[in-house]
Amino acid sequence: MTATLIDGKQIAARVRGEVAADVAAFVADHGRPPGLATILVGEDAASAVYVGGKQRACAEVGIRGFDHRLAADAPREEVLDLVDRLNDDPDVSGILCQLPVPDHLDGVEITNRIAAEKDVDGLTVASAGRLALGLPGLRPCTPAGVIRLLDEAGTALEGAEAVVIGRSNLFGKPMAQLLLQRNATVTIAHSRTRDLAAVARRADVLVAAVGRPRMVGADWVKPGATVIDVGINRLPEGETTASGSTLVGDVDFDAAVEVAGAITPVPGGVGPMTIAELLANTVRAARMQAGPGA
Ligand code: NAP
Repeated sequence: MTATLIDGKQIAARVRGEVAADVAAFVADHGRPPGLATILVGEDAASAVYVGGKQRACAEVGIRGFDHRLAADAPREEVLDLVDRLNDDPDVSGILCQLPVPDHLDGVEITNRIAAEKDVDGLTVASAGRLALGLPGLRPCTPAGVIRLLDEAGTALEGAEAVVIGRSNLFGKPMAQLLLQRNATVTIAHSRTRDLAAVARRADVLVAAVGRPRMVGADWVKPGATVIDVGINRLPEGETTASGSTLVGDVDFDAAVEVAGAITPVPGGVGPMTIAELLANTVRAARMQAGPGA
C-alpha cells in the first residue's frame, strides 16, 4: 500500500486565501484591517527569519504588521511595557513574542502578559485553560493546523484511537486536547512510555512531535493509519534525503508511506500550516475584540 500524501503547502495556501477574504470582509465592516504585532528581542538569526516570514505573510493577506525589535539587553520592564501598550492598542488584534528570548528575560512571563483576547499563539495560561475547559478561545497554531490537515484529508476523528508522541506545552498537550474535543480516544506518549512502538501501532491517527529524526518506523504504524509528522530535524552538514531535502521529520517517511493510509511529508506537511493558522487567529482575534456578530 502507498499512502495518500497530505499536502500541507496546498492546504495552507487555501487557508491563506480564506484569511485574505476574511480580512477584506473585516475591512469592509470596520474600515481598518486586523493587526498583528510581533516582538523580537535580540538578534538571533533564526528568530529574525521567523519574524520576517510572519510579517511578510501578514502583508500578503492584508493584515497590518507591527514589527517591534528590541535590543538584546532590553530590560524586563521595557519588554513588559511594550506588551502592555500593545494590549491597549485598538489597532493591534494579535501579539506574539518570538521565543526564545535572551537569558535575562523570562519568556513565560512575557507571553503571559499578553491579553488572552490577543494571544494569537494560544500559549498563555489563560488560553491553555480555556482549551482544557472546552471554552472558546484562541488555539495554538500548529495543533490547530494539524486538525485542519486531518479534516482536509477526510480522517474520521470521532471514536478514533489517536496517539500523540510528545507532551510539550507548545504542541503535544494542546494537540491532545483538540483531538479529545473532536471525540478521539487520545493517548499521550513521551520519553517514559513503555513499548512506544506498540502504543503507536494502536493509533488510527498517529501524531509524532518529538524532535528525533526518523524515529517512527514502518513497524510503528497500523496499516491504513493517518500519520502526521510534526518533527523538523536538520540532517548533518552535507547530507540530504533522496528528494534533496536537508530536513527530515520524526517519521521514517519512505518506510511509513508503504504502511499508512495517509501521511504528511517533511518539509511541506505540518510546517506551512503554522503561519497560516497564525493569520487565521489574528482575524479571529480582531472579530472577537470587535464584539458579537462582528
Ligand atoms: P519538545 O518540547 O522538545 O518536546 C519533545 C517531546 O518528545 C517531549 O514530550 C519528550 O518527552 C518527547 N520525547 C523525547 N524523546 C523521546 C523518545 N525517545 N520517545 C518518546 N518521546 C520522546 O519539542 P516540541 O516543541 O514539542 O517539538 C517537537 C518537534 O516538533 C520538533 O522537531 C520541533 O521542531 C517540531 N515542531 C514543529 C512545528 C511546526 O511545524 N511549525 C511546531 C512545533 C514543533 P518528555 O516530556 O518525557 O521529555
